[in-house]
Amino acid sequence: HADIAMYSAKKQGRNNFQFYTPAMNEESLERVRIESALRNALERDEFVLFYQPQVDLATGHIVGMEALIRWNHPELGMVPPNRFVPVAEETGMIVPIGAWVMRTAAAQAKAWQDAGLGQVRVAVNLSARQFGDPDLISGIEAVLADTRLPADSFELELTESLFMSDVTPAVDLLHRMKALGVNLSIDDFGTGYSSLSYLSRFPIDVLKIDRSFVNDITDDANDAAIVSSIIALAHNLKLSVIAEGVETAEQLDYLRSQGCDEMQGYYFSRPLPAADFEKLLRERRCLPVLQLDEPLAI
Ligand code: C2E
Ligand code: MG
Ligand code: MG
Ligand code: MG
Repeated sequence: HADIAMYSAKKQGRNNFQFYTPAMNEESLERVRIESALRNALERDEFVLFYQPQVDLATGHIVGMEALIRWNHPELGMVPPNRFVPVAEETGMIVPIGAWVMRTAAAQAKAWQDAGLGQVRVAVNLSARQFGDPDLISGIEAVLADTRLPADSFELELTESLFMSDVTPAVDLLHRMKALGVNLSIDDFGTGYSSLSYLSRFPIDVLKIDRSFVNDITDDANDAAIVSSIIALAHNLKLSVIAEGVETAEQLDYLRSQGCDEMQGYYFSRPLPAADFEKLLRERRCLPVLQLDEPLAI
């Protein structure tokens, strides 16, 4: 692993060579390997987006999708985001990677809309680190202009941690983003430690209930209470609400009984490669993807 040791040593600065002993654990070794391979991944076109459907609970139709990145590495295979996104965030590589995600997802949604597959909306995940990028707003603007995706078909998922103390972006920045016409959602809602006051100060459109709450709603009364309270909170604030990680019909029934607007989860579909997602849209375009026990309220 001479190359890896050299790479790491260089990172410490020219006059500060460090040599690794066998004590260096497998985990940090893998990290260094990933960090080094990540540097070439964009130009080698190794990233792929998978798409997971978002289903309207009132109509049963697919109304959108979340774009989820994977890294198709020649030796490591399909690397899931939790193995490389944190490294990309720490090194700042998430900025160009995130720009690629936005452009690719927007172009894909526009292509499906143009193919007559519905006015599907696409959501992408934004890292806190991307808010430090002075070109973020102009970058989003350029993506919308270049792809011609209607701004209201584009959604940016933020995390609650973004609203905590020192990393909180200026209210102004989110208002400028919102002024472009895009939707803003709060991902993993309920897992952060931030004050709820940001919900009234920032122009948020959607709350995404974290899947840890959804997971136990049918056998934990407290989680059920939290979920119904989040749905009520969202609606009282005139926000829309989507449940993540829905895996069973029982969870779905509970969410519908509480008036949840949309759902996303393995119960309906795992994240799919673009070709499979397109097939799903083509086959189910005119049909509700979920059986509804009540007639459509249209
Ligand atoms: P997330 O944004 O909360 O995305 C939802 C994650 O839950 C996805 O994992 C999805 O595959 C998984 N999931 C969806 N439905 C279910 C279900 O019913 N059960 C279970 N157990 N899991 C479900 P994935 O794709 O591995 O992504 C993990 C995280 O990586 C994402 O969490 C997001 O924070 C991050 N991520 C993914 N793509 C990007 C990206 O393009 N940029 C950034 N910055 N982060 C990304
Ligand atoms: Mg997300
Ligand atoms: Mg989430
Ligand atoms: Mg998550």
